Amino acid sequence: MIHTRNLQKFFRRGNNEKYVLRNINIDIEEGEYVVITGPSGSGKTTLLGLLGLVEVPSSGEIFFRGEEVSGISERRRNRIRRDHIAFIFEQIHLIEELTIYENIELPLLYVSTSRKERKKTVEALLDRFRLTHLRKQYPGNFGDFVQQKVALARALSCSPDFLLADEPTGRLSSGEREEFMELLRQLNEEGQTIVMATHSKDEARHGQRVIQLFDGHVVSSASNRD
Ligand code: ADP
Ligand code: MG
Repeated sequence: MIHTRNLQKFFRRGNNEKYVLRNINIDIEEGEYVVITGPSGSGKTTLLGLLGLVEVPSSGEIFFRGEEVSGISERRRNRIRRDHIAFIFEQIHLIEELTIYENIELPLLYVSTSRKERKKTVEALLDRFRLTHLRKQYPGNFGDFVQQKVALARALSCSPDFLLADEPTGRLSSGEREEFMELLRQLNEEGQTIVMATHSKDEARHGQRVIQLFDGHVVSSASNRD
């Protein structure tokens, strides 16, 4: 689904170029659950930004379903992102003025769906993440676990082809973390393609495949299944 070829990213500091990612060649196939791991500062967030078409590489290529997307217009890139890609982050960005129901519904207002379809989708997500009883409440009244579940439901509302998760459990307690990992595992089992970044070795074992970054290099790529 997503392939990168000799992907590099650097940031300029004065006359110097600071390389954050070097020669990244990865292939993510439909239905996979890939974990990108590595210490803080190794380039995980930057890589997710590139895979999610939020950032553009300094050099190299990114293919989304066979189409080279690093050279296309920003408008087209935004469209692909909107139609196919969803994110969750360590920092949970919900809209405080909207109820939990409305937060999950929000992305659907930007695509052509009927009111009835929308309702059906949101209710199914509320039910799935055990949020139905909280639908009319505001997210700020709840802790990070509930909020992250709402963010996940919102990310899924448009049925993205792939979900990018950047340290999604960073703010959760260990019990909540396990539960959240289980939610992602189930989603993947049902076919959702997931790419998750984490610095936690323990969480990395949840993926089918682990890509390890160190100082912007891929230092290993291993399957968890053997
Ligand atoms: P990780 O998510 O693994 O902690 P990041 O991708 O956030 O790593 O960052 C990798 C490196 O890139 C860090 O040294 C960071 O300071 C640097 N970096 C990230 N974004 C920028 C930017 N916009 N400008 C300059 N340096 C950046
Ligand atoms: Mg990061």
